[in-house]
Amino acid sequence: MSAPISSQQPETPKSHDLLARARRVIPGGVNSPVRAFAAVEGEPLFMARGEGPWIWDADGNRYLDLIGSWGPLILGHAHPEVLAEVTAALQRGSSFGCPTEAEVLFAEELCAAHPALEQVRLCSSGTEATMHAVRLARGFTGRDVIVKIDGCFHGAHDAVLVAAGSGVATFARPGSPGIPQAVANLTRTAPFNDLPTIERHLSQGDVAAIIVEPVPGNMGCIAPDPGYLEGLRELTRQHGALLIIDEVMTGFRLARGGACERLSIDADLVCLGKIVGGGMPLAAFGGKAEIMGRLSPAGPVYQAGTLSGNPVAVAAGRATVARLTPAVYARLEEIGEEVDRRLRPEVRARGLSMTRVGSMFTIYFRAEEPRDFEQVKGCDLAAFGRFHRRALRHGVYMPPSQFEAAFLPAILGAAEIDHLVRGLVAAMDEALAARS
Ligand SMILES: *Cc1c(COP(=O)(O)O)cnc(C)c1O
Repeated sequence: MSAPISSQQPETPKSHDLLARARRVIPGGVNSPVRAFAAVEGEPLFMARGEGPWIWDADGNRYLDLIGSWGPLILGHAHPEVLAEVTAALQRGSSFGCPTEAEVLFAEELCAAHPALEQVRLCSSGTEATMHAVRLARGFTGRDVIVKIDGCFHGAHDAVLVAAGSGVATFARPGSPGIPQAVANLTRTAPFNDLPTIERHLSQGDVAAIIVEPVPGNMGCIAPDPGYLEGLRELTRQHGALLIIDEVMTGFRLARGGACERLSIDADLVCLGKIVGGGMPLAAFGGKAEIMGRLSPAGPVYQAGTLSGNPVAVAAGRATVARLTPAVYARLEEIGEEVDRRLRPEVRARGLSMTRVGSMFTIYFRAEEPRDFEQVKGCDLAAFGRFHRRALRHGVYMPPSQFEAAFLPAILGAAEIDHLVRGLVAAMDEALAARS
């Protein structure tokens, strides 16, 4: 039962060979750690192509893709109209390093779509977006400290790659060797859904900003308690700190205007990525004009990027965002509700729990839905690891970690939802049967 998938097939799978070669020339064989399947059973699969909601690995096996490139592919893989617009942009020139009309149109479209955006700047990754938003918040307020929520992920830069301090420690611990303690000292952490800790941090009067995922998807999907995000807004206002809502995952996913629209949240700065780039490397940060006006060259806070606003990436983003109509969001909600209605009773019947907000969901190997990172860490992670591999065998590609949300694309039909539910139910049974 627990034999690796490779030993069950007659020939050595191509993914297995590729992994061996990759490990010689790429650290750990992957270009981003979660892809290595360290937290689940078996070896990572190398993907060869995607079409609609399906992906095929290097050995020709087909999976229903519940990652969608970690969120961006809300319209599925290789959407013909998106492809056509990207191809046309590429043929006009891949990059100029000069302003283009499409950037202006895109910025107008983004500001119209998202309630918190009066001005926006494009960059190339979510990491850059949050890094620059943090610098801008520090530059704007003249304060150095930021508050980060445990279990939220904002990319891989020093200010946000920190872990909660142990016990009564005031300071965060560096989240990785190479991050100086002196840098981590400028970040304070608080559990998700915990306002008293936030208030304690803010009352010290030195906090530039709180950065938060409004609906975290990087500790699995967790819904904010009623009043939590409103409380962050209220407290930051009272204490002269900015509220940075990191919508890299939720932007254009939970609504056209992201979680801010869906949950009626006001933000000073917002970070976008993933869907906004339509599968190309593009992200953005923006917010109130008074704050964004401090950004270079309009103001003194420096920020730059050679490929920022790249025309091919902008074309992919615009083509994707243009197709996210009210009808598409209505269908996406329907898909989420249908999956929920069919899957949740099966999950609960097996003593597990499920969270869902719109088209983001997580099956937790824990009886009760978690509210924060500490509770997620208490899940049966080994069982999740078995579940993941079994789901692959049933042709469903879930994110390879208990700490990641699954994403539904807006193009699932009845047959695909059926495949999803059957595959995950069978995988849960097999994972739990294998429990020793
Ligand atoms: C993915 C993600 C990021 C980082 O984006 P990259 O493009 O991977 O750098 C930042 N914040 C959130 C909420 C994310 O989900």
